[in-house]
Amino acid sequence: MNSKTIVVVGGVAGGMSFATRYRRLNQDDHIIILEKGNHVSFANCGLPYAISGEIKDRESLLVADQTMLQNRFQLDIRTKHEVVGLDSSAKTLKVRNEYGESTLSYDELVLSVGARPILLDIEGLNKHPGVFTLRNLENLDAIQHYLDTVFVKSVLVIGAGFIGLEMAENFRKRGMDVSIVEKSSHVLPPLDVEVAKKAERTLEEHDIRLYTSRYVARFEDTRAILDDGTKLEADLVLMSVGVRADTDFLQESSIELGTRGGIVVDNQFKTSIPNVYAVGDAIVVKHLITQDDVMIPLASPANRQGRQLADILSGFQKVYHGTLGTSIMRLFDLTFASTGLNERQLNTRNYDVVHILGKSHASYFPNAEDLFLKVIYDKDTHEILGAQSWGKEGVDKRIDVIATAIKGKLSVVELQNLELAYAPPYGSAKDIVNLAGYYAENKILNLSNTIQWHEIDMLQESGALIVDVREQEEIDELGMIEGAIHMPLDTLRCSMNQLPRDRKIITYCRSGARSYNAERILNEAGFDVSNFDGSYSLYLHMKDID
Ligand code: FAD
Repeated sequence: MNSKTIVVVGGVAGGMSFATRYRRLNQDDHIIILEKGNHVSFANCGLPYAISGEIKDRESLLVADQTMLQNRFQLDIRTKHEVVGLDSSAKTLKVRNEYGESTLSYDELVLSVGARPILLDIEGLNKHPGVFTLRNLENLDAIQHYLDTVFVKSVLVIGAGFIGLEMAENFRKRGMDVSIVEKSSHVLPPLDVEVAKKAERTLEEHDIRLYTSRYVARFEDTRAILDDGTKLEADLVLMSVGVRADTDFLQESSIELGTRGGIVVDNQFKTSIPNVYAVGDAIVVKHLITQDDVMIPLASPANRQGRQLADILSGFQKVYHGTLGTSIMRLFDLTFASTGLNERQLNTRNYDVVHILGKSHASYFPNAEDLFLKVIYDKDTHEILGAQSWGKEGVDKRIDVIATAIKGKLSVVELQNLELAYAPPYGSAKDIVNLAGYYAENKILNLSNTIQWHEIDMLQESGALIVDVREQEEIDELGMIEGAIHMPLDTLRCSMNQLPRDRKIITYCRSGARSYNAERILNEAGFDVSNFDGSYSLYLHMKDID
């Protein structure tokens, strides 16, 4: 068989996964990697931690050594080579480097050009000397250089997504005064508000000032003026407001581009141009659950897509079924993670939600930490649609289990049957994931009828009676919902005849577990009763009460 020339544009996650796998399957083809930056195969995900010095050695961010990649995989790696044009009829690329422009032919072309940070056009921003985005080692070096040469006391992070918050944490750990401005009503857009709120409180606890539902209207020197007139000192500005596919160089080609400049591909990564394929952050993918066109810029999908494309171009029949968007981040001592869809993405779907506050491992074993899990499922089909979690420990395990369940098409009820590794230091015999299955099944079987945190005020106003079933000591310590009456669970069977039969009753406790028992007692006694999902812990959290 004749050897081919495979040209890969972009030498990081998707591009390098493709190239190394393809080499393992095809020893003779010429694989050229064109990378406009100075490095290939570096760890973009590790960049924020170098700011605080948590990752001390910059070189450790260079995941695979270029010489090793060249020797072991016979890759023809050309850094500082930027592709500036594609002529698909001639099957050539126009490539620019320090010596000028040249033309390069390909037999097959793989684009893994990623996504670049969006730089907002804000009045006065171009006069600010310290405005940065973070995508690569060059950006990190520029930030480090600025911090080393200019006295930076205040940092303004614009955008409160994963990268914005990671950077805010690392600037704070370096001793700077940090403010975050976010246009949306809460931080971390993949999460729903009750989960994101925990992140907001974490920022507050670490003296990071957060301005949500606000935007920077203009800069006056190094001072940011927000839309409501708030003035923020900003010696350094980190812009982290999302990304756009790095595909400007393809605008003049006939390749089909979609939302945010994303390259449109089929389920085998073929673009609209023959012999041209694309993977990673730069492509439009199908959402695994909805099959809608989405852009999900994450490292795990990019790596998997690169490898899968290598298999496809080596003759194996593989199909990409879509991306779920499973993501995780650490914020100081807490972890936040999610998979699948959030409630805002589900407005036309008939869905239900369970909130569970459990423990990271057996509560009697030392150092058990609070663990919060929210699971969203389709009310009609019981398909799991998404999950979100926060906690100090064990968040990754729970979200990964649920992401696997979604991929394996398990129903929410089947979560109760998962046999998960258990010993007291690691989990509970009834893991919080199993509990999500129990809670959902109880609702599906109409054994429980829950109300949500955003409904409680409205129901109370329309006449519902709220019954607190906790112990007196808990009320003394944490208070109770205003207007609620107290009937401890263990005396409820005797006292319930004092409850009105002509009003809706809502039971609550700390987490929703004891109040479910109360709900069952009252339900069987003929009361119109619902349990408060997430109960007082979620109520306190949403009302900003400690
Ligand atoms: P990239 O890794 O961006 O690589 C594309 C490469 O193509 C770039 O090096 C670029 O220079 C090059 N290129 C572009 N255009 C051209 C051209 N015309 N000619 C030549 N070369 C070109 N994801 C997670 O899942 N978890 C995380 O914790 C996480 N943290 C992150 C933190 C930061 C600071 C950043 C920036 C990203 C993070 N990501 C994270 C996202 C993750 O890094 C990306 O999803 C992943 O790298 C995408 O791989 P890719 O190959 O599509 O693109």
